[in-house]
Amino acid sequence: MELEISNVKVSELKEKYGTPLYVYDEVKLINQMSLYKDNFKSDKFQTEVLFASKSFCIKEMLRLVNNNGLSLDVVSMGEFLTALSVDFPLDKIYFHGNNKSFEELSLAVNKGINNIVIDNFMELEALENICIKANKSQKILIRINCGVDAHTHKFIITSHIDSKFGLIYNSEEYKKCLNLIKNSKFIILEGFHSHIGSQIFDYEAFFAAFDKFIPLLKDFNYPLVLNIGGGFGVHYTDEDHPQAVDYTTKSLVNYIEKKLEIEKLSLKKVCIEPGRSIVGEAGYTLYTIGYTKKTPNRLYYFIDGGMTDNIRPALYQAKYDCDIANKMDLAKTNIVSIAGKCCESGDVIIENTLLPEAVSGDLLVTYTTGAYGYSMSSNYNKALTPGVVFVNNGISRLVSKRQTYEELLEREI
Ligand code: PLP
Repeated sequence: MELEISNVKVSELKEKYGTPLYVYDEVKLINQMSLYKDNFKSDKFQTEVLFASKSFCIKEMLRLVNNNGLSLDVVSMGEFLTALSVDFPLDKIYFHGNNKSFEELSLAVNKGINNIVIDNFMELEALENICIKANKSQKILIRINCGVDAHTHKFIITSHIDSKFGLIYNSEEYKKCLNLIKNSKFIILEGFHSHIGSQIFDYEAFFAAFDKFIPLLKDFNYPLVLNIGGGFGVHYTDEDHPQAVDYTTKSLVNYIEKKLEIEKLSLKKVCIEPGRSIVGEAGYTLYTIGYTKKTPNRLYYFIDGGMTDNIRPALYQAKYDCDIANKMDLAKTNIVSIAGKCCESGDVIIENTLLPEAVSGDLLVTYTTGAYGYSMSSNYNKALTPGVVFVNNGISRLVSKRQTYEELLEREI
């Protein structure tokens, strides 16, 4: 039995587009976006859901994000230009990053971007100078290091003071920023931002982060915008137990509404910016198995991709599930490690998983590769960036072509 993704057979995808191949189930993408949009709502304040484009930034994805009513978080010239290339509405784009260049800030201001999220005082000064020159005002948020550090099941409230991101509330640098803003004709402080981590399952971490903002909110006599970041967890393997998006978003809104009532505070708007939880589980990577090899303690299946299209296992010891996509009904008799073709012993994308016997030419599928796979891919060993295909109810379409060797070499002199 063969795996189908949104009613398209994987053998058909291999034949049409080759492997390795990133495949996205467009129906799942749209469902995730609707879940966020429909459930992250409040009667007490405005809400906005931003897609964190770093997780998967290609034109067709950004078109889909726009068509489904979400806003956008970009963090570099490349991501911003991708958004501009599909006419993403500027009033729905937020520009993040700790070291935005003069070119990035200037383009953002001159194009009329909605909001720039300021990381540090020097950046704010640079922005102010750009605004003066352009005679344009600019809305900003300030990124706060709120001292909550959350990853998977753990979150710690620490003096996590040395993060490269954000400012600490009431630090000297924070006060310098507020002073500059007070005296600026051009900078409009709309509010604050924080992002506490990734793959978070314990949503009380977001509550804890929100609580850290209470003293800060009390310093202002107008309702602010608060962006509480992304990081909502997804299912990579059965070790992961994410909460449903509707439950999480509703709990978050309830918590904030109650807390505001208790503290007699109001907010203009609350934003969240999920990336992984919108695209992660909608993504699959399809590989062809080449050789298999037995060592004294291991059985390897070698695939035609690896750490170049999925760096996360090597970078974060991230875990994935897989199947032999053309042998879905066969007994899983072998304990196998899946290794890529890079000249690097860390190029093992899955260790000790159960799979059926494989032969050369079988198709291997890895699940939940939609986030930080394509966007973190590299040309190590001069591997080509794979193509990207969207599938939707029996129809597949290429949305990003596989890189060619000509393209790979064309910049070199
Ligand atoms: N916002 C910011 C500022 C981030 O740094 C990140 C990820 O690093 C995200 C949003 C998205 O996080 P995730 O993809 O885990 O939802």
